[in-house]
Amino acid sequence: MNQPFTAAAEPAEFRDFGPIKFIPGKKGGRYPYCHSLVIDGDETWVVDPASDKDYLRGLAQTREVTRVFISHFHEDHQKYNYLFPQARFYVPAAEAEAFKSVEGAFALMGLDDPQAREYWGEIMVRQFHFRPLEHLVPYEPGQRFQQGEVTLEIIPAPGHTLGHSCFHFPGQELLFLADVDLTPFGPWYGDQTSSLENFEATLKGLSEYQARTYITAHEQGVYSREEFQAALPAYQKSIAAREDRLLEMLKTPKTVKQLADRHFFYGKPKDPPFIYHHIETQMLTKHLERLRRQGRVTHTNGAYVTNKIQVSG
Ligand SMILES: [Zn+2]
Repeated sequence: MNQPFTAAAEPAEFRDFGPIKFIPGKKGGRYPYCHSLVIDGDETWVVDPASDKDYLRGLAQTREVTRVFISHFHEDHQKYNYLFPQARFYVPAAEAEAFKSVEGAFALMGLDDPQAREYWGEIMVRQFHFRPLEHLVPYEPGQRFQQGEVTLEIIPAPGHTLGHSCFHFPGQELLFLADVDLTPFGPWYGDQTSSLENFEATLKGLSEYQARTYITAHEQGVYSREEFQAALPAYQKSIAAREDRLLEMLKTPKTVKQLADRHFFYGKPKDPPFIYHHIETQMLTKHLERLRRQGRVTHTNGAYVTNKIQVSG
């Protein structure tokens, strides 16, 4: 049974949307944390439990959390899964393997280097408490889950990852955008199974959604409809801005490695270097291969160079 739950010290930006609570992530919801949702009805459900250890531990002690919904397999969305050992974990069917073993996650990331796999595997266990989830329930696009006045609908939003999903709560006119995070960094598609084209299609689809409140998993978190409508085009445009910057840099030929060594996306070295090098390489390759298909760059002798005459289309 549920007992009344009060947090010892509610974070400043804690918000209620009817039965849906917004739990701000530590560090402003920046990696390795993300914002969570708690659905507090007849049952207690949690979305992306990687926000605030003290809050979520308090919740686990005073509520029977029956279900945990996870938007995608990234470690910064499931750091505190272990606090809810009795719950069933609802995960995207397309990436269910990544919740069963770190090797499953490496396969989706395209992380091949043995040294990187060993190092990252240790980080996953030590820092993110990774363990294979026991009560795993794969969900599919369009599936709906209901309790009382709350319906949680699975909105497929691939691109960031293969199975990345948003959660729509029609009764509360609330859309949880997960890692369509509207941050100044722009869209992230740094896994082998991430897709630039899918991300663009996802952004277009989400732009047509009519909700009252939009919630991202990182940084600002809560957006009104007006704020969402203003933030989305800027986020979308960062993809074209990246392409323009690439075409400018490739006026002289450069390899993917040379571009990655210049930290094209992150702008500065980040730790651990080989993981960020992997991400830079993945994101660069997706752009460069598309530009090549479009006839805007040529790939010769391992390097890419901007075509002087741009082929349209
Ligand atoms: Zn992510």
